[in-house]
Amino acid sequence: MEKEEIYRTFPGRLLIVGFGSIGTGVLPLILRHIGIPKERISIIAADNRGVSIAKKERVSFRIEPLLPDNYKKILGKYLRGKDFLLNLSVDVSSVDLIKYCQARGILYLDTVVEPWKGVYTDPKLSLSERSNYSLREAVLKLKKGSKGKTTAVVAHGANPGIVSHFVKRALLNIAKDTGHKTAAPKTREEWGALMQKLGVKTIHIAEYDSQVSSEPKKIGRFENTWSVDGFHSEGIGQPSELGWGTHEKHFPKDGHKHTYGCGAAIYLDRPGAKTVVRTWTPEHGHFLGRVVTHNESISIADYFTVRKGKKVVYQPTVHYAYRPCDAAMLSLEECLGNMSKLQDEQRILLEEITTGMDELGVLLMGHKKGAYWYGSQLTMEKTRKLAPYQNATGLQVTAGVLGAMVWAMENPTQGVVEADEIDFERVMEIIEPYMGQMVGKYTDWTPLTDREKTFADDIDAKDPWQFKNFRFS
Ligand code: NAD
Repeated sequence: MEKEEIYRTFPGRLLIVGFGSIGTGVLPLILRHIGIPKERISIIAADNRGVSIAKKERVSFRIEPLLPDNYKKILGKYLRGKDFLLNLSVDVSSVDLIKYCQARGILYLDTVVEPWKGVYTDPKLSLSERSNYSLREAVLKLKKGSKGKTTAVVAHGANPGIVSHFVKRALLNIAKDTGHKTAAPKTREEWGALMQKLGVKTIHIAEYDSQVSSEPKKIGRFENTWSVDGFHSEGIGQPSELGWGTHEKHFPKDGHKHTYGCGAAIYLDRPGAKTVVRTWTPEHGHFLGRVVTHNESISIADYFTVRKGKKVVYQPTVHYAYRPCDAAMLSLEECLGNMSKLQDEQRILLEEITTGMDELGVLLMGHKKGAYWYGSQLTMEKTRKLAPYQNATGLQVTAGVLGAMVWAMENPTQGVVEADEIDFERVMEIIEPYMGQMVGKYTDWTPLTDREKTFADDIDAKDPWQFKNFRFS
C-alpha cells in the first residue's frame, strides 16, 4: 500500500477520550477523511455533552471518566496493539496515557499535555511544578526511551500544534523575501541556524478571536469559544510562561528560571490572565493580548535554540498573546473579580455565534523587514460551510488534530514527538483547506509604535523587541 493511502484504510480501532468542543468537532473530519468504519470507533467522556452528536453520527458513546486508579482497566476494554487513542479530554494525565500506549504499540495523539485533575490548583506544588515547562519535561523523559516505538504525537491542535508549522512557513517566506538563498532546512540544527541568520528575536502566537454571540454574556456564566475548564486552568491556575530569548536584556522582576530541564523558558509570578502584552495581527492592527502559558512557547524556543558545544548562543523569545472573544473577556473579568473562582455555569459558544473570525498566526519580529505575521483568518461564516458542530476556533484545532492523526498513521514508529518535529509540509497540506484564508503580512509595527506619551513609561528605546517593551501589565 502507498504510504499516502494508509490513513484511507486504517485497520485498527479508534478510541476518543473526551467529547467536548474539540471531540465533537473532529469526529466529522475523521469520518470524512480517515477510512475507518464507525463500528470501530468508540467515545468515552466524563459527562454527556456531545451525546446527541455521537447518536446522530451513530458512533458508540459511554460515560466512563478515566481516573488514576481505573484508566488501565477502562482503556484495556477498547484498545490493543496498532489501535489509536485520541485524547481530547481535560483532567487526564497525558504522561500516563502515553506510557500505556507505548507499552502496547498503540498510536496516540493529544492537543495539550494535561495532568490528572487538581494538579494545577494544588497549593502544595510550587509554581515551577505547576508549569507547562514541568509537564513538558515529563514528556521529554518519555521521549528519550521511545525511539523506534509507536508514534505518540504530543500537543498537536492549533496552538500548541499547527502554529509550529506556521513558524517554519513564515521563516521560509522571510528568507525568500529578504534575498536569503537557502534550501529548506532538514534538521533542527539547520532550522535554528536559519532563524538565527534571519535575525528573528521574538515570536508571538498572536491570536484575536472576534466571534460574537447574538446574546450579551449572561452574568454568572463563563462563556468561551473552546474549553472553559481548559482556559481557566491555563489562564488562572498556571503561571504565565515564555520562551526566553538570548537578546533579552531586562529580566522581569516577577520572572524566575527553572532549576531543571532544557532551560528554554521562564515563568512569571502571575497567571497569564493577568499578564498583558502589546501585539499585532493584520486584521486588528495593534491590540492587547494575554501571555497565557502554552506548550508551544517552550517547545518552539527549545527547537530553534542554537548551541556551540553546551553553550546556548541563540534562542528566540516565544509566547502566546491571546485576545479571547468578547464574551470570554467579560467572563475572565468576572472570574478574576470573584477571587478567580470559576463560575458555576459555563457555555461554549456555537449556534449563537452570529459573526466574527479567529485570526490565529505567528508574528516573527526583529528580522530585516521588521515583523511578519503568518497564519489563518477563519470566519464563523466560512467555518459553517466547511464543517459541522464547531466554531472557527474549534476548526483550527480539529484540522490540526486530523493533520497529525494522518501523519501518525503514515509514520507509526516515530516514538514520542512534538509538533516541531513532524513533517510540516505534510500537515499543512491536510489542514490548509480548513484554514479559511492563509495570510502572510509584513508590518513596520513595533511595541513602541504610537506609544502613549502621557504617563511615565519604562521602555528600552534602543531595541524595540525587548519583552519589557511589549509588556502592558
Ligand atoms: P471541553 O471542556 O469542551 O471537553 C472536555 C471533555 O473531556 C469532556 O467531554 C469531558 O467529559 C471530558 N473529560 C473530563 N474529565 C474526563 C475524564 N476524567 N475522563 C474522560 N474524559 C474526561 O474541552 P475541549 O474544548 O473539547 O478541549 C479538549 C482538550 O483540548 C482540552 O485539554 C483543551 O485544553 C485542549 N485544547 C487544545 C487546543 C489546541 O489548540 N492545542 C485548543 C483547544 C482545546
